[in-house]
Amino acid sequence: MAVNAMLNADLHCHSTVSDGTLSPQALAERAKANGVELWALTDHDEVGGQSSALQAAQHLGLKYLTGTEISVTFAGQTVHIVGLGFDHQAPALIEGLRRTRGGRSERAREMSASLAKVGIAGAYEGALTYVGNPELISRTHFARFLVETGVCKDTSEVFRKYLTEGKPGFVPHRWARLQDAVQWITGAGGMAVIAHPARYHFSPTEEYALITEFMAHGGRGIEVVTGSHSAQEAQRYAQTALEFGLAASRGSDFHSPNESHTDLGALPWLPGQLTSVWELLAKRIQ
Ligand code: AMP
Ligand code: MN
Ligand code: MN
Ligand code: MN
Repeated sequence: MAVNAMLNADLHCHSTVSDGTLSPQALAERAKANGVELWALTDHDEVGGQSSALQAAQHLGLKYLTGTEISVTFAGQTVHIVGLGFDHQAPALIEGLRRTRGGRSERAREMSASLAKVGIAGAYEGALTYVGNPELISRTHFARFLVETGVCKDTSEVFRKYLTEGKPGFVPHRWARLQDAVQWITGAGGMAVIAHPARYHFSPTEEYALITEFMAHGGRGIEVVTGSHSAQEAQRYAQTALEFGLAASRGSDFHSPNESHTDLGALPWLPGQLTSVWELLAKRIQ
């Protein structure tokens, strides 16, 4: 397999095991149909879909890297760390993710109580009807409920008006520590990657701290081309990757045919001068 920059790698997406609407198998089929050459399923705080994803990919002749996207609290904000190419049966990783998922149900009940105060009743029960994994109720499931009941026209309106800092339905939450998330991934033989760096609201100093601490703990990659970066943002983080000596990743962050702007594999190429995460993970590709 070609391991150069011009590989249709999609190393970030979500299934019903977290907040996506397609099963791991349906995602594998969609990735294959869209021309993806190397794929990873990266459910939030979960590796429960990895065996099905790998099996489906192998059946389709699609190269696969194991994946997850871990929620981390850093400098008072939520940061997502993607893990790729790890042993998905590693006990420390599984236990760490289990603890990271803990507290989601309680948070969801508090979100529901907060929404009730602005006249939106039954949001917890409503969100639950969209949940595929009882341990993983997320804001996305609430967003689907608010769209379905006509409170908002789409999920981006939900996040603009609700569920985000300062808005009704937002409940602050403490996720995993950066060093733990990186350690769970690298300890299981994988590579840690900073997800969608342009989506955080950090000052330049905080961003520098994030990257240097991430690297000090053993993190090696950063998403450059993602469904949530503009062309300009991709250019900016290509530069960041070069400056810090980070490997570059590419992934759609696809969640659902109805909600996601970027389909599986439908992304610009990684800029050619970058080292890709898949070059460094060549031995972990299945
Ligand atoms: P949670 O892990 O429960 O805090 O939910 C985070 C998820 O909400 C992300 O992974 C996205 O799927 C979704 N999300 C966050 N912000 C937005 C947004 N502005 N528009 C659409 N989806 C969003
Ligand atoms: Mn999500
Ligand atoms: Mn994310
Ligand atoms: Mn994601």
